[in-house]
Amino acid sequence: MAGRQGKGQQARQRRQQGMNWIRPAKRLAIYLRDGLACCWCGEALEDGASLTLDHCLPYAKGGSNEACNLVTACAACNSSRGARTMAGYARVVQERTNRQAAEVLAAVGRARRRVLDMDTARAMVARRGLAGALLDARR
Ligand SMILES: [Zn+2]
Repeated sequence: MAGRQGKGQQARQRRQQGMNWIRPAKRLAIYLRDGLACCWCGEALEDGASLTLDHCLPYAKGGSNEACNLVTACAACNSSRGARTMAGYARVVQERTNRQAAEVLAAVGRARRRVLDMDTARAMVARRGLAGALLDARR
């Protein structure tokens, strides 16, 4: 049992390496769904945020790569969240910003439930331009 779990975890780690664990159009569609801004602190691409994808339920804890488990996060939030729960990190955001933890959690929840505009994302990826800059920047 433990051995099987170990292999599964290794495979997960391999899949998560680099940016190849999610298709570019899906990554971009999630960024667009979330308004090109961090769902946690609200920092936007236009404010200089480096966009990343954050697993609401961490991948290491069995969270999926489905859009409903992924939200846009700035690189700072993604790395500082670490292993914290969503509620735990919402409290950290509250200390750092003027957003209330409950509002932060509600915003993240709303983002996860929105439908992805895959057509727009695919068209943007085909044209590259902004999509290329976004997708080449980070994980
Ligand atoms: Zn952030």
